[in-house]
Amino acid sequence: MKVLKFGGSSVGSKESITNLKEIVESQQDDVIVVVSALGGITDKLIATARMAAGGDRQYETEMEAMLTRHENMISDVIIPQRRAAALDGVHGLFGELKEIMQGLYLLHDLSEKTMDIIVSYGERLSSQIVAQLIDDIRLFDSREFIKTEHNTHNHSIDSDLTYRLIRETFQPLFNAPDGKPIANSQQPTAKVKALAPGFISSDAQTGEITNLGRGGSDYTASLLAAALDASVLEIWTDVDGFMTADPRVISSAYTIDELSYVEAMELCNFGAKVVYPPTIYPVCQKNIPILIKNTFNPTARGTEIVNELPAGTKAIKGISSISDTALITMRGLGMVGVIGVNYRIFKTLAENGISVFLVSQASSENSTSIGVRNEDAAPACDLLNREFSKEIALGAIFPISAEMDLATIAIVGENMKRSPTGRIRDQHIVRGAEELAAQIAQRNP
Ligand code: ASP
Ligand code: MG
Repeated sequence: MKVLKFGGSSVGSKESITNLKEIVESQQDDVIVVVSALGGITDKLIATARMAAGGDRQYETEMEAMLTRHENMISDVIIPQRRAAALDGVHGLFGELKEIMQGLYLLHDLSEKTMDIIVSYGERLSSQIVAQLIDDIRLFDSREFIKTEHNTHNHSIDSDLTYRLIRETFQPLFNAPDGKPIANSQQPTAKVKALAPGFISSDAQTGEITNLGRGGSDYTASLLAAALDASVLEIWTDVDGFMTADPRVISSAYTIDELSYVEAMELCNFGAKVVYPPTIYPVCQKNIPILIKNTFNPTARGTEIVNELPAGTKAIKGISSISDTALITMRGLGMVGVIGVNYRIFKTLAENGISVFLVSQASSENSTSIGVRNEDAAPACDLLNREFSKEIALGAIFPISAEMDLATIAIVGENMKRSPTGRIRDQHIVRGAEELAAQIAQRNP
């Protein structure tokens, strides 16, 4: 069994959604298909809700435009016999959405909970269309098995419950009554096809609608793949795969054939928007490969992400960068040899929900530098100046400040740890890194 996830651009146009149909219908295995909202719809839902709550009547025009986009897609790609069913599904959901938006307009109030309800419509709508597009596919509601719990700073997956519910929902479908997978039995049987909207979930306790964060449909697909021991997780998107660098910045960037889970995680944490970073962990734990494929260019090889790469693969796989970052440095001779300084830095920041993505400490321990997002820099400095106020007053540590507006470049490759620097001679990558550094310097003189 395979899990195939199609992103917003893959369900966003007549051409891509037609390719999606062909890709799914030509599979030799049982499949679960996971879909995002039609490209751009989640952003539109958020903007329209804000307009309505802000008392701007234009929200009605935006609602009409979204409805028309879904109706046009149905008339473009759904066969006449199934159009009415698709339209019914879409109209029903738009009816609900209209009432919610009207409520916002009248009350001038938009809570986080309401926003979660509103954005859930994107995937619920797109899955209504795909359910009629593909022959013999059965639509499921992801809110019934993807369950989240509420933490102080965000929602996170309740994995035990989610895995159990996924198995209860899908195992009867993929397993014959004798418990053997249908796909492995001798008789050629019709392939089983299931469909689930990505991104949406519900609270394990209250049942309220939640979601897995922007870009979260990849994560839905990964959880399904991991819970059901899929043979592969395929992420169908609008690029040929992970690239050695951002092609908008580095013209000579090219697609990478193979990455390890760790390399893929590094690249996507540092700006490559190919997969949503939390996606990697569930499938990595089960050693299920991820295949990145292009819906617009299905014959391209794509990028395969696996656990272990064959020996002798390149030391450096790619470079990526994030802008809008800041570097906070704590310095002071009073830090040398003192146990617990770093503990206090990270504890203070963690308690306040600030994420650190880069750490470096001088070997004499007289300074520690941490990288944070620009927007976190001022609160982080305040918190640290307060935490270390005694040491600062004594002169043991200098007052803490941040260098703003930096870019962070990551050079990614697991094999680097086995390669003395002199042997890393990938000219392509070296030139790319130089080009990237020059471009960043130009942007932030
Ligand atoms: N539709 C959601 C978003 O735009 C989730 C996804 O596409 O993965 O963030
Ligand atoms: Mg995505």
